[in-house]
Amino acid sequence: MAVPKKKISKSRRNMRRSHDSLAAAVHEECPNCGELKRPHHVCSACGHYNGQEVVETGDAA
Ligand SMILES: [Zn+2]
Repeated sequence: MAVPKKKISKSRRNMRRSHDSLAAAVHEECPNCGELKRPHHVCSACGHYNGQEVVETGDAA
């Protein structure tokens, strides 16, 4: 079993963890329905992307 030779100091441990925080998810308004959606993703509310409906939403047709 691999065993670390030296104890990692609080400073080094915390330096490693400085990159561990999660970034907040990015959202923008859908130009079709105004719901918040993620950029470069199909809108989950109306199924539109780039000005046209690309996914059936279920309530229509
Ligand atoms: Zn939408």
